[in-house]
Amino acid sequence: QPTAAVIDGKAASARLLKEVTAEVASLAQQGVIPGLAVVLVGEDPASQVYVRNKLKRTVECGMQSFEHVLPSETREAELLALVARLNADPEVHGILVQLPLPTHIQEDAVLEAIDPAKDVDGFHRMNVGALVQGADALAPCTPTGCMRLLRDTFAERGGDLSGLHAVIIGRSNIVGKPMASLLLAANCSVTQLHSRSQNPAELCRQADIVVAAVGRPNMISADWIKPGAVVIDVGINRIAQSAEQSPTGKARTRLVGDVDFAAVSKIAGAITPVPGGVGPMTIACLLANTLTAARRQSA
Ligand code: NDP
Repeated sequence: QPTAAVIDGKAASARLLKEVTAEVASLAQQGVIPGLAVVLVGEDPASQVYVRNKLKRTVECGMQSFEHVLPSETREAELLALVARLNADPEVHGILVQLPLPTHIQEDAVLEAIDPAKDVDGFHRMNVGALVQGADALAPCTPTGCMRLLRDTFAERGGDLSGLHAVIIGRSNIVGKPMASLLLAANCSVTQLHSRSQNPAELCRQADIVVAAVGRPNMISADWIKPGAVVIDVGINRIAQSAEQSPTGKARTRLVGDVDFAAVSKIAGAITPVPGGVGPMTIACLLANTLTAARRQSA
């Protein structure tokens, strides 16, 4: 039986989207409709699903959405020209270029070409630098969503994150590193683990907060977790499930996180499920960033 509270990312995301929708309506009364442009290059099926969901939610919030789907053979110069047009378009307040890009295009060059004021993914070096310095920046959506879930979880217990020890497993530019900056800004003591870390389980066991962003199914087992710790599972891994394991009696694939949910939920104080935890927060934070960008550009 799980003893941990299960953190409901769907409910938290719905609350945030409701707030954003109300604020978009009040901005619209002042004549500004926030606009988000999403650029997809190629036919990666996972990216197509992400982009479709982003566009749907954008419209539901009352924002304008601009979709640009380009063929996989698009040249880097053509993509840069599109980014330049979007930078100059006053109806576009946020620009998101869906990653990964085809290998013949330099991701860095494209991300650096986006106007930092419209960089709602928070991947431009200017925004990365501002985040590290603790200045006001458009911060990456997935770690921002994790912070909201953590703040809500500790607020429900009448506390905050200040002084707690957070262990992040993973150091990518899109999740692990910005997560460390955000936790540090919230006055946590931060330890960052990665593929070269020695004794990761022992280090992780000292954590009050664990954020797993690795991409390895069920890697974090119960012996990594201190009793009562709050566990945020960012990982999204698709694994095969045999007919015997499957509730439908048919072989299928299913999504799991980086954390062994069944075992860890017997020890942790609170834990996010996969799916239904961090995932739904990411899009809501993207739209919150678009609203912020629109407000700043129209101020
Ligand atoms: P990356 O592959 O870019 O980074 C993975 C990180 O995990 C690296 O820093 C790597 O270390 C580290 N790592 C790999 N193996 C180990 C190990 N054995 N022990 C400790 N650390 C290890 O992944 P992302 O950060 O982009 O994504 C992580 C996961 O989160 C994925 O499952 C992804 O699908 C998911 N994700 C979910 C999102 C959401 O909305 N919920 C959004 C973005 C990602 P090193 O640097 O040394 O190689």
